[in-house]
Amino acid sequence: MAVRKVITTPNPILNKKAQKVSDIDNDVRSIAQDLLDTIKVEKDPEGAGLAATQLGESKRICVVRHFYEDPINPEKIQSDDLVLINPKIISHSKETQTDWEACLSVPDKYGLVERFEKIKLTAKDLNGDTLKIKAGSFFARTIQHEVNHLDGILFTSKVIGKTISEKEFDKIIEMENK
Ligand SMILES: [Zn+2]
Repeated sequence: MAVRKVITTPNPILNKKAQKVSDIDNDVRSIAQDLLDTIKVEKDPEGAGLAATQLGESKRICVVRHFYEDPINPEKIQSDDLVLINPKIISHSKETQTDWEACLSVPDKYGLVERFEKIKLTAKDLNGDTLKIKAGSFFARTIQHEVNHLDGILFTSKVIGKTISEKEFDKIIEMENK
């Protein structure tokens, strides 16, 4: 159990396809716990998900955070943090959505990425049970970003137009909120 350093570009492990998990053993459980511990200290939206490859582990494990408003105090954002083992997108909507993305492994870069609006996914949880998940909008985006990581694909290869810096990004958000 530990907060670990997130690997950043240009480390080649980020471009490598991760290995399928065959047994949910102590090694897998420990990587999952490290992913959960590491993501908790990161701010959103960069910290909406984390893949094992980003910790240098070539295994198909990732953690995704499903954010929602606290039912009692809507100002407060809660999250369910899910461990997904061997996640697989089994179907998706025709509709897509283009929005900004960033990544803990690609510091100071933001870009617009087109993703499916809705997806259906299967994965195993840490007990080896099969999860079936339907996801939409931001949560669907997070999952697609993390599954890409497990295939060695970074969001920067999917950016429409060019990537911008955090400073430029903050300026755009400021303008949009005016
Ligand atoms: Zn990422």
